[in-house]
Amino acid sequence: MTVWWLLLALSFLSFSNGLHKTNKYEGYKIYSVTSKARSVVLAKTLTELAKKESYYEVFSGFKGGNAAKVMVHPKEQVNFVKLMDKHNADYDIIDGDVGLTLSSDFETNRMLRERFPYNGRLGTERYYTHDEINQFIEDLAKEYPSRVFLKTVGKSYEGRSLKTITITNGDARRNKNVFLVDGGFHAREWISPATAVYLISQLVENLEENADLLQDFDWVILPVVNPDGYEFTQTSADNRLWRKTRKPSSADCIGTDPNRNFDFHWNEEGASPDPCALDYAGPKAFSEPEAVVMADLIHSYADRGKMYLTLHSYGSLILYPWGWTTDVPDTVDDLHEVAEAGQQAILEDTGTVYRIGPSTETIGYAASGASDDYAFNAGFPISFTMELPFGGTGFDPPASDIDHLVKETWVGIAAMARKVREKYPLVNLPSGARRIIF
Ligand SMILES: [Zn+2]
Repeated sequence: MTVWWLLLALSFLSFSNGLHKTNKYEGYKIYSVTSKARSVVLAKTLTELAKKESYYEVFSGFKGGNAAKVMVHPKEQVNFVKLMDKHNADYDIIDGDVGLTLSSDFETNRMLRERFPYNGRLGTERYYTHDEINQFIEDLAKEYPSRVFLKTVGKSYEGRSLKTITITNGDARRNKNVFLVDGGFHAREWISPATAVYLISQLVENLEENADLLQDFDWVILPVVNPDGYEFTQTSADNRLWRKTRKPSSADCIGTDPNRNFDFHWNEEGASPDPCALDYAGPKAFSEPEAVVMADLIHSYADRGKMYLTLHSYGSLILYPWGWTTDVPDTVDDLHEVAEAGQQAILEDTGTVYRIGPSTETIGYAASGASDDYAFNAGFPISFTMELPFGGTGFDPPASDIDHLVKETWVGIAAMARKVREKYPLVNLPSGARRIIF
């Protein structure tokens, strides 16, 4: 493996020196910005810049002592630097040519696909397509017919099958509690489906070690909620940073943010009515078939569901409701306790520091119409958005990072699931009712 990565690094060099394919991000830079003073003013300035979508993309917002990450068009870089100087902000260039980074990554991913073709298992060597992920769960269902169940729960706008995998311990007990997990809401956050796949592998293929996690709980996982967007990001380096769905939203623009499209405080703060915006809420709540599918799943498991977990990147955050307001739910202590279990487990495992807290307060802005608030409101007592760590230019950890990222995330998820299990034990039904064999 070491030799292989060495070869890959060498081909990387020859690629960047020779075949410099240009793309629309050529010359874009990503800045990391911090400010010791006047942080509130600077935060407002960044929010304003984010509205100039042809020139700026604020990858992650600014709050307190945390660095913001801003991608800037070549034509605006001089102005941006002047503006930051005016605010006495400190800034570093963390990517001097986003176009080059994305082209190199695209080439690497192409080579990795050839080097590691799908062979019935999905390892952590590379990112996988939606088809490969569906094939993988189908193969698992065939191999573990008494423990793994698939269901096609809907179709994406472009007609891709959305399939859930339900993982049990095979004891055929019905009406267990449920953990509901999804990935791939946002197209470019590839580490999210990769984590869902690793979670599936662990729960299915490592039963002995994870027996307690399947004792009184079934796991229902939809690994890629937005497959049209996910596939689109894999077609070229130009499309790598696509976030939304692929349904046309106006004559000029495509896509809705599926995580602003839920019918709970829809189109309020932190969601845009502009069809071209990255966080466009859609023409109406549940305009996107992918969001409808997820909402249906949430409702169908709401009575047994104890934890809903939606995997995103980036930020190293475990966020809980509310996201539409700065208010916090009455059960904030329960949410915090479970999030803390995940935070602590990850810290002990790898030293990665996650921040935890109510969504709006922790990220510094609201995000209304999102799935986590929706699931919590529908009855899941624990509902989290997990923002995985920063990688690459932000949303694109290189393939060489997949292994450690998915493994540390799994450690956190397992710890949270164990805490949920302790806090919400399966209600003891009369023995006859509880053990129904099918
Ligand atoms: Zn996301």
